Amino acid sequence: MLPDIFQGAISRLNKAVNLANIELEVLERLKHPKAALQVSIPVRMDDGTLKIFKGFRVRHNDSRGPTKGGIRYHPDVSMSEVMALAFWMTLKCAVVNIPYGGGKGGIIVDPKKLSNIELERLSRAYIQKIADFIGPDVDIPAPDVYTNAMIMGWMKDEYSNIVRKDCPDIITGKPIALGGSVGRDDATGRGGYYCLKELEKKLKFKPKNMRIAIQGFGNAGQHVARLLSADGYKIVAVSDSLGGIYDEKGLDISSLIAAKQQNKSVQSTLLEGSKAQAITNAALLELELDILIPAALENQITAVNAANIKASIIVELANGPVNIEADPILNENKILVVPDILANAGGVAVSYFEWVQNKAGFYWDEEEVHTRLHRIMCTAFEKVYAYKEHYKTDMRTAAYISALQRLSAAIEAGGTERYFSGKH
Ligand code: NAD
Repeated sequence: MLPDIFQGAISRLNKAVNLANIELEVLERLKHPKAALQVSIPVRMDDGTLKIFKGFRVRHNDSRGPTKGGIRYHPDVSMSEVMALAFWMTLKCAVVNIPYGGGKGGIIVDPKKLSNIELERLSRAYIQKIADFIGPDVDIPAPDVYTNAMIMGWMKDEYSNIVRKDCPDIITGKPIALGGSVGRDDATGRGGYYCLKELEKKLKFKPKNMRIAIQGFGNAGQHVARLLSADGYKIVAVSDSLGGIYDEKGLDISSLIAAKQQNKSVQSTLLEGSKAQAITNAALLELELDILIPAALENQITAVNAANIKASIIVELANGPVNIEADPILNENKILVVPDILANAGGVAVSYFEWVQNKAGFYWDEEEVHTRLHRIMCTAFEKVYAYKEHYKTDMRTAAYISALQRLSAAIEAGGTERYFSGKH
């Protein structure tokens, strides 16, 4: 059985706390989410029946600012998963040094089984249930797995109806016409791409020599594939929830993105003349590769398959794709893991830009968004890489140390045992 996802997530703190001499009180704070809400969401379905959905919202820690994090629609959502995702958001915002804490939300639902109108009713009803728990200066949601810009637009509209004023800063990842930011759509993939470009300089590899597989071909996966393939990297495999395709000569990414935009699966392109071959999601992870990019869900690389991973670099665009039991196996095999709290932080960075623009009522152009994102990602990458060398550790632990130092500064500013017991 896999370890409980939240417990597994927080137990990773121990190594960083010991290495960087972080106060135990800081660790204690981060073990306990600030607040967790579970709601029942009654929705009238198109056939007249009433269905009750279960939803969650967690505010993990707000020492560095209001909590921030996406909303996931998926049948496997649970309170423990939402708590883990909120915890990772706390660390992620600290790694890239943006003034937010971590939050997350989710609904147990398979959105593919709902009509568009049912999806809108569910999304609005969820906001009605959590409206008192969130707020533009309290907790700001965003998209995550199986939620998108249109859903964010409905949610913003519903919240604005509740508070009786236009409130674009309640949520990010909105359509541009409703106060969204240019550059938010591809921000997660772009942030991961910028990390890989920095690694390219450090390790001096050539894009055309690098074979890449991407598990999960949604928002994060498609955009990183597009950017990397334009740069000459060879994307040999991609997958979605229905399975993957593999071609050692490299895949045509733009036609795959076009297929996904028409709601087709990546394997459907095999029927349309592609020379690639079908593979399972599990087999994709174990291909002969240089770089593996998990961009779907948690717990994909575990004690069961970690020893079979052949890529020398893993860039975690998904949150938590490698579980705690796999960490030592990958480290032992000298696989360099660019951790989720750094690699996928581009999304929350541009969400922050969107919120700042909403508050100012002044909107930036794409060049400004890209320049600022590039600066944030490269600065964070440099620091984590330097910590990896300094502490002689893996990149995940280095990223945790960087996050913990910033969180400690905020938590210790209010006084810890050392201060109150006069031991400082
Ligand atoms: P998405 O809904 O746009 O895409 C998810 C993709 O994963 C789809 O292609 C889906 O078919 C695929 N998928 C689902 N179940 C799968 C399975 N069992 N095996 C393989 N593929 C599967 O979601 P997204 O926004 O791209 O999010 C993907 C990951 O990136 C998540 O872990 C999410 O938390 C993380 N992330 C997203 C953002 C963001 O801004 N969207 C930011 C940071 C992190």
